[in-house]
Amino acid sequence: MTVFLLLLSFSVKAQNTEDKRGKYSGNHVKYVFLFVGDGMGVAHSAATEAYRSAINNDKVMHPLSFNEFPSQGLMTTYAKDRFITGSAASGTALATGHKTSINTISMNEDRSSEYPTIAEKAKANNMKVGIITSVSIDHATPAAFYAHEPKRHNYYNIGRQLTGSNFDYFGGGGFKSSKGPEGDKPDLIKMVEDNGYKYVDSKSDFRGLEKNAGKVMAVNPRLDNGAMPYALDMNRKDLSLADFTEKGIELLDNEDGFFMMVEGGKIDWSAHGNDAAGVIHGVMAFSDAVDEAIDFYERHPEETLIVVTSDHETGGMAVGAKKTEYSSYYERLQQQKVTLDVFGDKLDELVKDSPDGEVAFDRVMQITEKYIGLGKERHGLGLNKCDMRLLQHAYEIQFKDKEKPEEMDAMASAYIGKQSFAQTAVDILAKKAGVSFTSNSHTGIPVPVSAIGPGAELFDGRIDNTDIPKNIEVLLWPIGK
Ligand SMILES: [Zn+2]
Repeated sequence: MTVFLLLLSFSVKAQNTEDKRGKYSGNHVKYVFLFVGDGMGVAHSAATEAYRSAINNDKVMHPLSFNEFPSQGLMTTYAKDRFITGSAASGTALATGHKTSINTISMNEDRSSEYPTIAEKAKANNMKVGIITSVSIDHATPAAFYAHEPKRHNYYNIGRQLTGSNFDYFGGGGFKSSKGPEGDKPDLIKMVEDNGYKYVDSKSDFRGLEKNAGKVMAVNPRLDNGAMPYALDMNRKDLSLADFTEKGIELLDNEDGFFMMVEGGKIDWSAHGNDAAGVIHGVMAFSDAVDEAIDFYERHPEETLIVVTSDHETGGMAVGAKKTEYSSYYERLQQQKVTLDVFGDKLDELVKDSPDGEVAFDRVMQITEKYIGLGKERHGLGLNKCDMRLLQHAYEIQFKDKEKPEEMDAMASAYIGKQSFAQTAVDILAKKAGVSFTSNSHTGIPVPVSAIGPGAELFDGRIDNTDIPKNIEVLLWPIGK
């Protein structure tokens, strides 16, 4: 019995990621893709799979391509000083292999020293480096790969570090404010250009970028505070995360290899707002970007590693809801035409367009039916008495701001808290579709990791976020290099 237990404990220990890493020592891969679905947990991708099938009247959950990768692991995300992490601390772990304190960008927990990042090491080893995101390029996740900053909200300082990074390609989102929050600082876009980058912000210039374009910073033609539009809100004028990934491959492909980090940043934003349709469209756009890397992998399977993961789960999302029990109606989410944010803007416009600033409840409900689908009986989105009371209450708070009857206040805070009308509407839609959320923040549950390529087995099993760059490092370079 003792022998058996000893063997068992030994075999469990032998599965440990650190032990597995010991088998590798550089030159296993040449091209590395790290995809980070910000806030993307198991439910976010499962809901996307369910949605894609439901709209085709299919009961089979067909896997997103990365969910079929040969290596599948579960990754812990906790920060140095909190179980529930934030994007800065988790970005630091993914970029440097070190846990740090909340809001810190690639520095130690007391912010007295800098941790080198995997992207900087790649650059130092003659690889080309690309950083792509759908949110602003100075946001925590992309920043963790090129900047070292005590506070994630120092966007201008972070942007300044981008201009001096010498990385080869920045794609997707732009600077939050290129002249700083007060608009009085030297323009970061000019600094980027002065440092030898081609700054591209039109679709035709983007399409025209060729392999030998040199250092490039390419942003979507439409930006909101530096971020690309949500996938659900995009139109023909926009470039997708997949477009930026495809272009990155074209620009970075070279003899010495490349490291590319691609973030689907708005999955997290939609999950914070408990906007199920926004989440699903964000995951689909992210998955399309991964597919570009898979095309490249298929041409260079012996030299390419693709890792797809997340920095933390957001929303405490689940496939299933109390009211819908064992049923789900994901096709109902198709009736939502814009994200929570854009729907909020539409409601603000109603107020602006009204001569006296007054907007009737019926008018708000018309707009809600048009953009969120609530009220469309034939699509299963008829509204019951409780839905109407919740919507009416949110309307009162947002459009009337009058004293509410106590009982209604109690009901609303029990169910929805002090939410805006737009949040209440997407919440009701999610519940009718059979999606639920337990939080408007991040959660501490482990997130999935998928990997394909040489050394992908290092990402199997239970790993920690700090293992990601450590694993990539041993696959790229001999230990100690
Ligand atoms: Zn995040």
